[in-house]
Amino acid sequence: MPTDCLFCKIVEGTIPANRVYEDEWCIGFPDINPQAPTHLLLIPKQHIASQAKALAEHKPLLGHLMATAADLARAQGLDKGYRVVVNTGDEGGQTVHHLHLHLLGGRAMRWPPG
Ligand code: IMP
Repeated sequence: MPTDCLFCKIVEGTIPANRVYEDEWCIGFPDINPQAPTHLLLIPKQHIASQAKALAEHKPLLGHLMATAADLARAQGLDKGYRVVVNTGDEGGQTVHHLHLHLLGGRAMRWPPG
């Protein structure tokens, strides 16, 4: 685990987060700078720097994250739709280099994204 990884510190509890979801593989908590009425982050407990670093061995974890995002969206009542975003790398807009899913909902989303 990189000692300077913000999301690893949230996983280990040295930086606080309001865990709205937790299981053996991942945790979910509100984004500190929400971009929609509902904006949760879902992160694996295991450090994977980005989607670009995902390997075949991560497939069960990645599938679990997607299915858990759907569970969270249902729990949040996002029955009109929502967006799951995985910013990847500098041009993808990734600022925290620990793989995470953004779950955004509660307003109509636009396309294309900025
Ligand atoms: P990225 O730009 O896709 O890497 O997303 C990183 C997200 O982490 C941004 O939306 C930030 O607002 C969010 N963030 C940064 N620090 C914290 C924190 O301490 N708690 C919750 N969210 C954070």
